[in-house]
Amino acid sequence: MNMKIDFEKYSDGLVPVIIQDATTKNVLMLGYMNEDAYLKTSEEKKVTFFSRSKQRLWQKGEESGNFLSLVSMAVDCDNDALLIQVNPQGPTCHKGTDTCWGEKNTSNFGFISALENVIEQRRNDLENPDSYVASLFKKGINKIAQKVGEEAVEVVIEAKDDNDDLFLNESADLLFHYLMLLQAKGFTLSDIEKVLIDRH
Ligand code: AMP
Ligand code: ZN
Ligand code: ZN
Ligand code: ZN
Repeated sequence: MNMKIDFEKYSDGLVPVIIQDATTKNVLMLGYMNEDAYLKTSEEKKVTFFSRSKQRLWQKGEESGNFLSLVSMAVDCDNDALLIQVNPQGPTCHKGTDTCWGEKNTSNFGFISALENVIEQRRNDLENPDSYVASLFKKGINKIAQKVGEEAVEVVIEAKDDNDDLFLNESADLLFHYLMLLQAKGFTLSDIEKVLIDRH
């Protein structure tokens, strides 16, 4: 973590720091560091800022216990901003929310999460005549579970071939129907991720 940071670029010597959760990748807060704050953070492996309101070094969590455990630091393209990845010990915002933008610090799987939302909407719209997902939800959980089993077998079959296109398509079928099964049981991929993290 030996980096050239251009503290002199700013008249007050304070470099903006984006704090990102190392696992979920959510942005937790924005702070500022002078060189002393940076050195203390490097040494103690807990994030210390320079507080502009307190006008002193401020170790995040010093009162609340909600420290930010350091995972990695990276300087941007022109050395005047830091991206720090952390494992937060509790909610990051002093207002009690996980992030300073009032969000929950849960995982986001990008398009897969958007797909989970669509699947949830279909489950609340069972009479939709144009929806395969709605019609499968209507048939019930046993039917969905059976589809997961069938798609899993198809993945196994295609794994033995070397047709990548078929393998990827059957894998997509499996994941899609598995997302439906999770939804039917009242869960999402995040719940499975939690189990895996706890095991790790
Ligand atoms: P803490 O560092 O968590 O012990 O909080 C001490 C004080 O720092 C709080 O009372 C707030 O004034 C301030 N503070 C804590 N967290 C934040 C934050 N995420 N953004 C801005 N100010 C904060
Ligand atoms: Zn920059
Ligand atoms: Zn906040
Ligand atoms: Zn299939």
